[in-house]
Amino acid sequence: MAKILSLHFKLPRMKIICIGRNYIDHAKELNNPVPKSPLIFMKPSTALLKDGKPFYHPDFSKNIHYELEVVLKICKNGKAIPEKYAKDYFEEIGLGIDLTARDIQDICKEKGNPWELAKAFDHSAVLGSFVNKKKIESEEIKFKLLKNGLVVQNGNTKDLIFKFEYLISYISKYFTLQKGDLIFTGTPAGVGKINIEDHYEGWIENTKYLDCRIK
Ligand code: MG
Repeated sequence: MAKILSLHFKLPRMKIICIGRNYIDHAKELNNPVPKSPLIFMKPSTALLKDGKPFYHPDFSKNIHYELEVVLKICKNGKAIPEKYAKDYFEEIGLGIDLTARDIQDICKEKGNPWELAKAFDHSAVLGSFVNKKKIESEEIKFKLLKNGLVVQNGNTKDLIFKFEYLISYISKYFTLQKGDLIFTGTPAGVGKINIEDHYEGWIENTKYLDCRIK
């Protein structure tokens, strides 16, 4: 029992907030409407998969998709943050993959049920490394996902429907943001099925920030 408890307390106390359909081309590729306000869901801290560890494909889904996203790391606590101050609440930017059991999500959507089984399962939030946002020259962040060496997703944050500052302001009206929380800001077009043996690499400009193999 003591062993189980010690494992529990090693888990980070943070939350992962994700934005759905935040790029028009991705909303369209899945025949979803373009949202008028941010579509929000969450993953628990047990969803984190870090440090280049492999993702072991679970047997409850036959169609898990990769979704590469720019991730913001919240650097201080805040509630009801005005948009004009939101930039002070994140210093680091990174990449993550929002793994999504699309077959389960389709059933949830059809039934009008919540998405947790499709989105919040163990290791569904693959996280790469972070960089200080000041080191990224441009406001427009170009990022891409390589699957087995070939580019499958190509994004640019200039195409975000809801920008970083707006998201932080919007989210913090409902949920207190705490230092260490992560915001997955949405995926561009090109999502697809993962397969055992796949190798995924996430890049911002010419630097690799994420590496994950599927086992
Ligand atoms: Mg996503």
